[in-house]
Amino acid sequence: MTRAMQTTPNPPGWSGREHPHLPYVRHVRKSWRRDAHGMWESDACDDTPWEVVCAECGDDEGPAQEQSGSVRKLRGPYRNKHKAQRVAHRHERRESGPLGWIPGSTARIPA
Ligand SMILES: [Zn+2]
Repeated sequence: MTRAMQTTPNPPGWSGREHPHLPYVRHVRKSWRRDAHGMWESDACDDTPWEVVCAECGDDEGPAQEQSGSVRKLRGPYRNKHKAQRVAHRHERRESGPLGWIPGSTARIPA
């Protein structure tokens, strides 16, 4: 976690965000099942496609078809890891707001 590095106060109007979005990239998985605790488990993964998983968006890390619309959109799948990582980074910057803002870069305009 790099949040301790935040030294500047939040800009006016910034409501703050308790949990930054920290998506990660993984292979698209298959053969989903629930384990004894009701958690998703996968016995296999595809060799080619990749997907982006963001728990802060409500992704429960289960199969893509079980996720809500915006989560599924973020999931992809993507043809290669590089593309998935770019999407993940962009999502992280956008959703985490000023925490990822670099002084001197173009000012962010909240959507
Ligand atoms: Zn997210």
